[in-house]
Amino acid sequence: MTDEQALVKTLDFQLDIQSDNESLLYDATLEARSVYNETIRLAKQGVDWNAIPDHVADDANLVKNTTQRVVAKALGAMENYYEYDDFGQPSHTKDGPYPLRANYEEGYNLSLTDDGDVAFRISAKPYNHVKGVLKGSNAHLDILKTALESDEWKIGTAEALFHGGSAELHVNVTNTEQTVRDKQDSRTVIGVDVNEDNVSLTALSEDGVEGTLVIDFPEIKFERHRYFTMRKRVQNARKDSIHDTLEGREERFVRDRLHKVSRHIVEWSQQFEKPCIVFEDLKEMHDSIDYGTRMNRRLHHLPFRALQFYTSYKASFDGVPTAWINPEYTSQRCPMCGHTERANRNKKRFKCRSCSHQDHSDRGASVNIAVKGIKKHQDWNVPALNSLPVVRKVSTERRSLS
Ligand SMILES: [Zn+2]
Repeated sequence: MTDEQALVKTLDFQLDIQSDNESLLYDATLEARSVYNETIRLAKQGVDWNAIPDHVADDANLVKNTTQRVVAKALGAMENYYEYDDFGQPSHTKDGPYPLRANYEEGYNLSLTDDGDVAFRISAKPYNHVKGVLKGSNAHLDILKTALESDEWKIGTAEALFHGGSAELHVNVTNTEQTVRDKQDSRTVIGVDVNEDNVSLTALSEDGVEGTLVIDFPEIKFERHRYFTMRKRVQNARKDSIHDTLEGREERFVRDRLHKVSRHIVEWSQQFEKPCIVFEDLKEMHDSIDYGTRMNRRLHHLPFRALQFYTSYKASFDGVPTAWINPEYTSQRCPMCGHTERANRNKKRFKCRSCSHQDHSDRGASVNIAVKGIKKHQDWNVPALNSLPVVRKVSTERRSLS
């Protein structure tokens, strides 16, 4: 067994499409959905997995290696289901767009422009390209520009997709110099539960709960709501430039705070033996499975993914691995007896309907996330929990509002 793994990151961008054919890309993601559905349907029917790629590729109106990548992703979802029963059985009847997964320099290409932008070209359909430039946060753009110019990073597969109605490209890059410890070789698993006004962490080893920390950041929630109201007001007055300025200020404020919180998470985790940081994978759910409106709201309204990205990025450079689990029921399950019921939770209070265990509900969720992380990636057993330590709370320092 190898102890080291490559440092891979996914960078997210919005697509500023300038070739006037956004619908072509949308059609291609619908085609990717039918490739996905057909692959899952055949796999459920018991068709030999080795025979599925050719079977599906013949009918698909996509670049061939792109079809192969989508088929591989669908089979990966089936394998994940059989192996871990982690995300439930993948659906083959869901409709709407599905990410178009492409190989670099085959299904898509990137280049630096004279203006310092990154131009993209996606082969949405055979001989038919969608072109433009990438937009996104500096954190992601800076890494990508470095990757295009230096040997320190290698560019890999990407996914083109529609998120909340707008086109995005998620690019995988690999750092060729850094490695990360294999996540299966961990002694402590840290469950991270991200909420609108705090992040809850629980460290779980074979011996039980090693510690819990809740980092409160009420100012992020407060500021996001404050900026939202201000933007609404200028929007109604049709003052677009002020609207954009406010949006930029809000983004900088939130980003600055999330960086601090993510540093805190990584530092806290490193006090434990061989830590692995585990998050809820909201993206996988979004792409593959039918879920209710509550989960869809969580997906769109909170800076979950930014905090997860910053944390996993910083952790990687310290050699600390990160892992992802299915978020289903993590907030409803009793960490002591396992009883799962929606009525167990009432906002921040958790009281088990079966064993009467009471807790801070976000801490309970972080225990459950750690438990899933152990079951999924470790070969040691989840410890029986008889009592949980007192929740330690800290707050990001409050900055005066100007
Ligand atoms: Zn219970």
